[in-house]
Amino acid sequence: MQCQTVKVGKECTFWASSGCTYIGRSCYPVIESCNGCNRVMTLPSGIYCTTYADPKSKWVLGSCNFATHVKIEGKVEEVKMKNPLKASKKAAGGGKKK
Ligand code: SF4
Repeated sequence: MQCQTVKVGKECTFWASSGCTYIGRSCYPVIESCNGCNRVMTLPSGIYCTTYADPKSKWVLGSCNFATHVKIEGKVEEVKMKNPLKASKKAAGGGKKK
């Protein structure tokens, strides 16, 4: 259903015939960590996230996993894919017969 309060006209899973069912009966504005994210939307009612009702909760355990402005740094290792069919034959003691 479409929100009728802070994100007027936007489809929302929290909106019901009884109104907003989210905690506090409303979405919460973005926080400072959201600055630069493409999911931030500015509305007459304030600045909100297009994806989450409570952006602050997405930053409690680290970076928001949907943030478009945060780069995840880390070592990427290449994994050599095994052919599962050959691997199962090898495990079963099979293989090329001579
Ligand atoms: S997706 Fe995450 S970082 Fe981006 S606005 Fe929403 S809560 Fe903030």
